[in-house]
Formats: sequence, structure tokens, C-alpha cells
Amino acid sequence: MTTKGRRTQAVHGGTQRSQWGELSEAIFLTQGFAYDSAEQAEARFVKAGPDEYIYARYGNPTVAMFEKRIALLEGAEDGFATASGMAAVNGALTSCLRAGDRVVAARALFGSCLYILEDILPRFGVEVVFVDGADLAQWEEALKPGAKAVFFESMSNPTLELVDIEAVAKLAHDAGAVVIVDNVFSTPVFSDAIAQGADVVVYSATKHIDGQGRALGGVILGSREFIRKTVEPYMKHTGGSMSPFTAWIMLKGLETMDLRVRAQAASARAIAEAVSGHGKVTRVSYPGLESHPQYALAQRQLGGAGGTMVAFEIAGGKEAAFRFCNALEIILISNNLGDAKSIATHPATTTHQRLSPEQRESLGISDGLIRLSVGIEETGDLVADIVQALDAV
Ligand SMILES: *Cc1c(COP(=O)(O)O)cnc(C)c1O
Repeated sequence: MTTKGRRTQAVHGGTQRSQWGELSEAIFLTQGFAYDSAEQAEARFVKAGPDEYIYARYGNPTVAMFEKRIALLEGAEDGFATASGMAAVNGALTSCLRAGDRVVAARALFGSCLYILEDILPRFGVEVVFVDGADLAQWEEALKPGAKAVFFESMSNPTLELVDIEAVAKLAHDAGAVVIVDNVFSTPVFSDAIAQGADVVVYSATKHIDGQGRALGGVILGSREFIRKTVEPYMKHTGGSMSPFTAWIMLKGLETMDLRVRAQAASARAIAEAVSGHGKVTRVSYPGLESHPQYALAQRQLGGAGGTMVAFEIAGGKEAAFRFCNALEIILISNNLGDAKSIATHPATTTHQRLSPEQRESLGISDGLIRLSVGIEETGDLVADIVQALDAV
């Protein structure tokens, strides 16, 4: 069969029907599986074949459908679904590292990712070196003496800075390091991370894959060898597997993800353009605008898209930012992202509150910064809501 387009894969990829021929994917809400005989049980524990299951922590038919579907979308050989995005990040890193290894990571990271790299891994004798993700000279310097793994967010939270996957992967591979990319902000719709050189891609499925704020989930994608020999033994014995019910939610999420994310990105662009001209806004970061310092890289890496997130700075610091948030009528104040509902976040006092003021400043997280996750509401309504809230500042 010929290779199918992403939207076709998102609807049909990985589907396996039971003897009933159900149209919608079945939820196999079962922890265990019964065997026809003691001999069959023994044989399965020796080696489980395809479509042979033992225990839901090891694998489950609904979860396997989700893993196959998202792997097809990403162009990865295989995937392992996890209970949350953080279980995916932790599983991808911890399963392949041991004491004495060195990891090179971009400094601008989601708080929980930073905790794993800064607090947990060093406790077990793993050295972690942080670099400015946008500065290739720093990557080259840190990777020179050899490193085991590289970890970065391809688009950073909340300032929407990009890391050049292709260039960093080249440096990492020359040093013999595995390239692990947290690809949440780039989304599976606009990502070509594996083709660009990533060895392992992790997603928080909680974000665009669910896209409707229902469940936590995650996935680790990579070569069959890495997923089945390195990730699976670690995940299945440490308990971070995805539940069958969550897998069903995520399968349904994947079906509509392309439509949602493209609509979100189109509105994000319109919002970025609208706020760029507003007198109360001092800085706008949207990778799809020419004003973004890495516009050319964004065009190359995201296939001409700009993503679903917009960050902008309001003159007047925290007070002005709070007044803006409180004046919003449609857009909700929350800290999730990738949702059908548009969400405004004030990173300095919420998601990045625990950082010191100096750390925040070095990451470009000022008191006036707003992070916007653009939903699927009418574009005109969102632009009008933002403009009226800015006017109210
Ligand atoms: C949300 C997020 C995570 C963690 O995902 P959870 O599903 O909340 O565990 C990791 N990395 C990035 C970039 C995220 O946005």
C-alpha cells in the first residue's frame, strides 16, 4: 500500500476491529487477559507475539491502536503511550541513561522537565549541562567531549524560541548522543522532527492530541529497537503506562487534531498580527511572523506554519498584565495549552513562579508577558476580545 497522508492516518491509522466490526475504536477496559490453557500462558510469558497481551501495564489493544496511529503520523517506527507527558519525558531520559553519562539540554524548559534534569538525574550520577538552545556554538562546545543524550523543547515555553533540530542533531550524532525532542509546542501536525534528525520525540498528549481538556497522557516515539528494547522494559515495570480509556480519548483526539490545530494556527497568526500594532504591546513573539528572530528557521522546521501559541508583552508589568487577563470575556485564564478553548496565562506568577527573578529575566519571562494558547473559537471574536482587553489596560 502507498503511504497515506497525515489526515488519513489520523482517522484510520492503527485501527484494529474486533469480531463485531465496530466503527469507532473499541475500549478494551481490562487490566488482564485470560488464556486458553496453562501452556498458552507459559508461551506468552516466554515471548508475547503481536496482538498477544498479558497485563495492561505491559500493553493493551486500545493503547496499541493509539501508539500505532501517532507513530504513523510522526513517521516513527514505534511508540509507547504513557500516563502523562511527564511520564514520557522521564521514561525517554531515564530508560537510556546510567550513572556517569552526560546529558546536554537547552535551558528554556517546561518546569517539570527542568526538575528531572536539574534535580533527579544528578542524584543518580548523571551529569547535565545546560546551554542556550538557540546558540549553536554552545551546543557544539558542550557536545565536543562526547555526551550520551541531548534534550530540548523544539519550541520553548513560554517565549516561543526555536531550537534548530537538524543542526543540533548533526552535532549530537557526531558526538554519539541520542537526540530526544519534547515537541509539544511544535505539535504533531506541523512536526517533521524525525526526518529532521530527532531520534526520539515525546509529546504530552494532554495538549493538542486530546485538545479538549479531558485527560492527561503522553507518548514516546522512536525506532522499534529503542522503544521495545529500552523504553518498554523501563515503562512497563515502573508503572507509567497509559490507561485504555485515556488511549480511546486520545485516538478520538487524533481524528480531529489536524482540523483543530490548523484552525488554531490560523487564528494565532491573526492575533499575532493584531497585537503587533497595538500601542499597549511592547513585544510580540510568534514564529510565523517575520518579526520573530528565527522566522526563517521556523518556516523550514514547521513547514511554513507558526504554531498555535502567541506570546506578547504588555507595557506596565504585572499590574497591566493582570488587568488584561481580568478584562478578557471569551478567553479563559488557565495554564493548559493546545485546547479548543483559548487560554491566557501569566507565566511569571503561575507556570514560572518558582524560578528566581534572575532566571525569569534570563529566559525573557517579564512581568508583562502573556502566553496565549489559541483555541478554535471564531477568529474575529478572539481578536475583538484581545483588543478590548488591551484597550482596558
Ligand atoms: C505540558 C507539557 C509537558 C508535560 O505534560 P503533562 O501531560 O502535563 O505531564 C511536558 N513538556 C511540555 C513542553 C509541556 O507543555
